[in-house]
Amino acid sequence: MDIVVSVKQHPLPGETIHGSEPMYSPGGKGANQAVAAAKSGIKVKMAGAVGTDGHGRDLMASLDGYGVDTGSVAGKEGSSGLAFITVDEAGENCIILSPGANGKMYPEELEQVWPAIEGCSAVLLQNEIPLKTTLAAMKEAAKRGQRVYFNPAPAVELPENAYAAIHCLILNETEADTLLGGRLTAEEGDETAAEIRSARTLVEAGVQSVVLTLGAKGAIYADKSGEMIRVKAFAVEAVDTTAAGDTFIGAFAAMRESGETVENSLRFASAAAALTVTKSGAQQSIPVKEEVELFLEG
Ligand code: ADP
Repeated sequence: MDIVVSVKQHPLPGETIHGSEPMYSPGGKGANQAVAAAKSGIKVKMAGAVGTDGHGRDLMASLDGYGVDTGSVAGKEGSSGLAFITVDEAGENCIILSPGANGKMYPEELEQVWPAIEGCSAVLLQNEIPLKTTLAAMKEAAKRGQRVYFNPAPAVELPENAYAAIHCLILNETEADTLLGGRLTAEEGDETAAEIRSARTLVEAGVQSVVLTLGAKGAIYADKSGEMIRVKAFAVEAVDTTAAGDTFIGAFAAMRESGETVENSLRFASAAAALTVTKSGAQQSIPVKEEVELFLEG
């Protein structure tokens, strides 16, 4: 659950400031990406965990409302995952995560998940559950022939043998820096030269493809065949960037799994994410397919 407070400026260490009334907004990277994928028109099943607090009930209701199958979401004694978010006047956010039930999503839980997602073409994972569970899920999904989309957020360095199971790694610049362990230094050249090199280096690490999102600068796609595609972000007035990345990721994965080309999927995902930043909140700010198509036509 995102607990969002608007502020004039983010507080400095030791500073106390006034904020707006809080807004309770169902979120979580996995849930947001599931909603973005479902709103993009594909069938989505969510696996994960919520707490026995009131937030757990609200989080499930939100997912159900967007047509996400919550049959594999476990209930854990205690708090749900919470995110304490401040949004400043420029629409930039600062986020503190308290994992709650997500931190109790252990590898053993996966035994109940596999039968439920038998037949799914792809699995989309994030880093808001213990890394060992994510790594186990990645390996098993790849073994079962399911394409693995992975958003390594919040970012931690991955063991080298994790990369081979990943069909598509989708991440932002900060996450790419963490995965690359500061191994890259900025280069002279055009404004995205360093980012292109980051995307290529991640492909060389062993994944099939990489999508590096660059905020208002757009996104870069690179894959094993040497393909390199750049898409610009759509110019919109940013109100709240919460869930921009999640929208992009869920929409991109949904389009690819619907059989769309990489180029069309990138364009659709950029448009969906641009629409998300024009609204406050997480899941409720994610556009449905028809809205994205109208935006692209206009
Ligand atoms: P994250 O939300 O994970 O930090 P990014 O900031 O890279 O991820 O944003 C993801 C995508 O959302 C971008 O690739 C872009 O398509 C879109 N986006 C983000 N910020 C803006 C913006 N200010 N205007 C238009 N599109 C944006």
